Amino acid sequence: MLHTEERPATKDIGCQTEPPERKSVGTQLSSRTLRSHHKSEAVQATVSCKDFGTSTDPFIAPLPCLSSTPIKRPSKRPRLEEEEEDIDPLEGSSMVTSQGSIFDPAESALAESTLMSDALFTSTQAVPKYIVYETCLMELFEDMMLQQLSQDKKVILGGDMRADSPGHCAKYGSYTMMDLNTNTIVDLQLVQSNEVGGSSYMEKEGLKRSLSLLDSRGVTIDCIVTDRHPQIQKFLREENITQFYHVWHMEKGLSKKIAKITQKKDCEKVKWIPAIRNHIYWTAASSKTGPERVAKWTSLLNHVQNVHTHEDPIFPKCLHTIRKTRDKSKWLSAGTPAFYHLEKELTKKTVLKDIAKLSPHYQTSSLEAFHSVILRFAPKNVVYPYLGMLCRLYLAALHYNENANRGQATTSSGDPLYKLSFPKSRKGECRARPVKTDATFRYVDG
Ligand SMILES: [Zn+2]
Repeated sequence: MLHTEERPATKDIGCQTEPPERKSVGTQLSSRTLRSHHKSEAVQATVSCKDFGTSTDPFIAPLPCLSSTPIKRPSKRPRLEEEEEDIDPLEGSSMVTSQGSIFDPAESALAESTLMSDALFTSTQAVPKYIVYETCLMELFEDMMLQQLSQDKKVILGGDMRADSPGHCAKYGSYTMMDLNTNTIVDLQLVQSNEVGGSSYMEKEGLKRSLSLLDSRGVTIDCIVTDRHPQIQKFLREENITQFYHVWHMEKGLSKKIAKITQKKDCEKVKWIPAIRNHIYWTAASSKTGPERVAKWTSLLNHVQNVHTHEDPIFPKCLHTIRKTRDKSKWLSAGTPAFYHLEKELTKKTVLKDIAKLSPHYQTSSLEAFHSVILRFAPKNVVYPYLGMLCRLYLAALHYNENANRGQATTSSGDPLYKLSFPKSRKGECRARPVKTDATFRYVDG
C-alpha cells in the first residue's frame, strides 16, 4: 500500500517518552524515519498520569542501532529536547502533543460526522499518548481487511482523488479506495506530482497503484465507482474493469449549471434544482441498465411541463401520484427560453452518456465525507512532508473506519435525534441530518 523510498532495514521494538507534565510538540518521525536505517515496530509512551494509575516506568529507548530488544535507560529529558530541535515544526505537529493533537490537529473544518464531544477534550489529558510510526499504521491498515476482501466475490470499490490544493499546483494527491459494501477505506495511495510528471497524472497513478496492490492481495473487483476523468475512463476500459460514476460528482456539476441558467433572462422560473437533484439520485439508484437510466432521466423534461407520460417504453410514465398543482407557475412550457436552456443542458450528448453510467451501488457521498475527515488531520493550509502527510492520511482512515458506521444518537426517551443544517453548497437550503453517536478512538490504543 505504501509507496515510499524509505524502507528501513532493521527493526526496534520499543520507544520511550517523557511523562506527560511537559509539552512535546515534536515527533520522532522525521528525525528517525526519514534519516535512520531502522524502523520501530510498536511504539508506546507509557504515561505516568495518576488518573490512569499507570506506572512511572523508566524511559525505554529505541536505539538507533540494530538491537531488537528494548533496553532500559534512566529517564533523560535532554534526549527529547535534542530531537525537538531537529524536527520540522510542520511535521512535528503531525503526531502527538501532550494535548493529544492527533485527535484534532486542525481544530477547524470539522466534518460533522466526526465531531468530538467536549468530554473528549477534557479527557485527553488523562488518555495515554502514543508516538506512532508510519510503518505501524501501515501494518494495522493492511492486515485483516484486504484478506477479508480477497474472499469477497462481489467487491464494489469507490475510488477518488483528493489533491492537497486546488488547480494544477497540487504537490500531493491522495487516492482513496473504499469498499462500498462496508463503507470502509481499504487503501490509500499518496502520489507526489513531481514523481508522475505533473498533478494531472496523480489520479490515474493513484488508482493504478491501488488496483495493483489489491490485485497482489488476491482481491477480485466486480466494479469500481470513480469520477468521470477521461484518463481514468481510458485506463479502466483498457484494464477491462467495469466502471460507474459517482452520482454526487455529477449532481454537483449539473446543479451548478442549472443555477447558472436561472440567472439568464426570462429563466428565473426554473425552480427545479432540488427536484432535479433528487431525480438524479433516484435515477441512479432505481435503474439496472444504461438505457433505463437515460429513459428515467429524460422523462424529467416532460415532468417539468406537467406531462407525466413518456414516449420511451422503458419508462412510459412517472411513478408519483398525480395531484392538482397549487402553484401552476412552476411548470415550464416548450418554446420558452427557460425550457430551451434546461433541455439543452440536461440532454447534452456528454450528459446522457454519463447518466447511463451512474453508479447503482453508491448513493451517499461517503468518500466526500472521508475527505472532510482528512481536513481535520491534514488541513490544507499547512504544507507537510511526504511521510507526515502519509501518516495523517492513515490516521484519518483509521478514524473513519472506526466511526463511519456509527448509529444515530437518541434522546433519553429513545427518539432518534436530528439537527438542522444549512450547508453552504446548498445555498441556505435547510436539511435535517441525523445526529450520530459520539465518535470513538479505539484505534489510538490499536
Ligand atoms: Zn411526473
